[in-house]
Amino acid sequence: MGKNTDNKRIAVKHVRDKAKSAYVKLDNCYICHTQVDLELHHTHSITLLLNAWADRKNYDITTDAGILAVRDEFIEEHRREIYDCVYTLCNRHHVQLHGIYGKAPPSHTASKQELWIAKQRQKFETGVEVSLPHASISPFAKFY
Ligand SMILES: [Zn+2]
Ligand SMILES: [Zn+2]
Repeated sequence: MGKNTDNKRIAVKHVRDKAKSAYVKLDNCYICHTQVDLELHHTHSITLLLNAWADRKNYDITTDAGILAVRDEFIEEHRREIYDCVYTLCNRHHVQLHGIYGKAPPSHTASKQELWIAKQRQKFETGVEVSLPHASISPFAKFY
């Protein structure tokens, strides 16, 4: 951890900066339809995808120049994960999801996350009370 991790975090930021203009952020939470504190959730962690992809291709993304040189290529090869596998969630439901699946959920949990999201939405619409673990809301400073 440490320096290398920080640099990789910067690499993801470059990808997000480039890709976010095309994100479709809805005006309400997919689950509860609230219109405040909305955030985007990727069921495939862009951080994990980017790091695995760079390792596979032997790309050095630890410098600004390194990531900027391959950023478009990464986005082009991951359009589905970046633009389609994305949900608009309120902060409360976003935090809850990451409380269950972790800060950067592994890609193999993507379908489980989708199922969980669909279930919460259904519960909300049928009026069945969903209890939230309030105690775990604060520790998540950063989501992926
Ligand atoms: Zn919500
Ligand atoms: Zn998220």
